[in-house]
Amino acid sequence: MCRVRGDWTLLGITGLDSHQLLQTVGFPRPMTVDKNVHVPPQQKEYDAIVVGSGITGGWAAKELTEKGLDTLVLERGRHVEHGADYVTEHVGPWEQAFRGGGSDQVWEEDYEVQSQWINENVKHFFVKDSEHPYTTTEDSSFAWIRGYQLGGRSITWGRHSYRWSELDFEANARDGIAVDWPIRYEDIAPWYDYVEQFAGISGQEEGLPQLPDGEFLPPMDLNCVEQAVRERWADIYSEPRVLTIGRNAVLTEAHNGRAACHYCGPCWRGCSTGSYFSSLSATLPAARETGNLTVKTDSIVHRVEYDPDTNRATGVRVIDRQTKEERAYSGKIVFLCASAMNSVKILLNSTTPRFPDGLANSSGVLGHYLMDHHYNAGAAATFEGFEDRYYYGRRPNTIYVPRFRNLGSPSTRQSDFIRGYGYQGGAYRPDWHRGADMTGIGADFKEKLRTPAPWRMGITAFGEILPREDNYCELHPERTDQWGIPILRFNASIGDNEKAMRKDMAEQAAEMLEAAGGKNVEPYDSGYQFGEAIHEMGGARMGRDPDTSVLNRWNQAHDVPNLFVTDGACMTSSANQNPSLTYMALTARACDYAVEQLRRDNL
Ligand SMILES: Cc1cc2nc3c(=O)[nH]c(=O)nc-3n(C[C@H](O)[C@H](O)[C@H](O)COP(=O)(O)OP(=O)(O)OC[C@H]3O[C@@H](n4cnc5c(N)ncnc54)[C@H](O)[C@@H]3O)c2cc1C
Repeated sequence: MCRVRGDWTLLGITGLDSHQLLQTVGFPRPMTVDKNVHVPPQQKEYDAIVVGSGITGGWAAKELTEKGLDTLVLERGRHVEHGADYVTEHVGPWEQAFRGGGSDQVWEEDYEVQSQWINENVKHFFVKDSEHPYTTTEDSSFAWIRGYQLGGRSITWGRHSYRWSELDFEANARDGIAVDWPIRYEDIAPWYDYVEQFAGISGQEEGLPQLPDGEFLPPMDLNCVEQAVRERWADIYSEPRVLTIGRNAVLTEAHNGRAACHYCGPCWRGCSTGSYFSSLSATLPAARETGNLTVKTDSIVHRVEYDPDTNRATGVRVIDRQTKEERAYSGKIVFLCASAMNSVKILLNSTTPRFPDGLANSSGVLGHYLMDHHYNAGAAATFEGFEDRYYYGRRPNTIYVPRFRNLGSPSTRQSDFIRGYGYQGGAYRPDWHRGADMTGIGADFKEKLRTPAPWRMGITAFGEILPREDNYCELHPERTDQWGIPILRFNASIGDNEKAMRKDMAEQAAEMLEAAGGKNVEPYDSGYQFGEAIHEMGGARMGRDPDTSVLNRWNQAHDVPNLFVTDGACMTSSANQNPSLTYMALTARACDYAVEQLRRDNL
């Protein structure tokens, strides 16, 4: 299995044996923050404290400040200036020591886990595993891919943005799995509209119940092979299997003061024209515009402070990333948006006599029911007959094939697994890099590389992972990081449902490409490591019953009314669609509710 560090990788990135890797990740000297030491808060009380400045923190900052709240955003990482700090944005491979590939020594020493995903051009937007350790239980592995800086992973995300459907919000209740979602599609639909209108999502309406249409900007184009495959599948499948262009938070026309994408290519190095949605290009500037925003970077929140007399969160405690000094801030409401696992970690670490197992954890489910999307199974094929066709520019997008399994109708029902998966991928003409796998030398060889290679098309599935209690994270009983904060220990694996689904993902991909006229069809399952899809979620799920869930239908802690968690920790099931659009909609919805409750003096 080879490591792929290109900017554009349509198909599977590798699996590494992460258990081995994690064993090698260093653990700094033990030191623990003493929660019993009183740290006096700064004089000022903010209306709202938001922890994290990534996709969800950016949205919380925008919504709360626009509604008039004096809001403090605390971000553990460094400041990143939109534009100026995208230091590799248009740097050529010839200008880099390792031509963009990076040094194996650096990967091994500092980026053992992150290096599954990253290359030299973006490593400054990902954490060093050597500085941010975590561990796993013996039989489990977890790839925790993180970006600790202002903007979080909104700088590097792939921008695929799909709505969930009624099917997804009803799934747990229908199957008797975990707990029921406390909301339905109609509760979140207006908020999808709202966040899509601001963020700018390009896409094609398809009228599919399992993937509701949204407020789209014009779609990007399919290329000739993708278009032909779309038409062929429309002809041959009676239950529709639709190939559509990815719905993507990249602007196809100027929108909200941001420029249209000019297809230059390396989005995840940072986009100084602001043509894709990030906290730095969109939500934080909007929040700043209100005059109600204070941002403090280098501020690692390790505890939410709690007053048992009022049963309210009173603020947070922070360790300065650089000086390691401790500070405290107070606020009327607290929004945890630190990314799913980090918000869970903060709650687990916020123990009090009333909540000895973590703040707002009277249910005991905090840390449990972790999910991700399992992927790296699909197929690739060659397509003949389009040799005189090519494409222009570097489309920052893939195709999408929405779920077609277990949709309710008998012909989609599967006997060996429940739920489903969607494919991403695309058709392309392999470029001169293919020369690395070819034999030859000299002028003849170079000439061969001047002729475009035959068209290839690949699709890889993202499948739903069921919420299971035994997929969990917890605070390590002894190990702490360099700031004295306990590190996380994960126990996570996929179960029989996912394994059966993976077989179908590869088989169906091969069958569908062949049915569309593909030759040399190669199905694959390259293995999957939990977390690898970078859609980690769960741990503080929403639910109707305080005895079995942490958050209510407004992302508000059942136990502590002025505490909200709106990142992926809140998810009750995972569906199969990329999740960030849903996090955005839930965050905006929760902010609206929180501000209303604050005004009514209910918090
Ligand atoms: C390469 C890549 C591709 C992806 N592609 C897609 C995609 O196509 N579609 C999709 O839906 N999702 C995608 N994702 C996932 C997406 O990035 C996340 O779902 C999303 O960023 C989650 O938002 P968040 O606000 O919860 O977390 P983040 O964006 O990670 O932000 C969390 C922030 O909180 C800060 N923080 C953490 N702990 C603390 C603390 N203790 N104190 C203070 N601050 C803290 C972090 O430094 C960070 O800035 C991708 C991710 C990556 C890396």
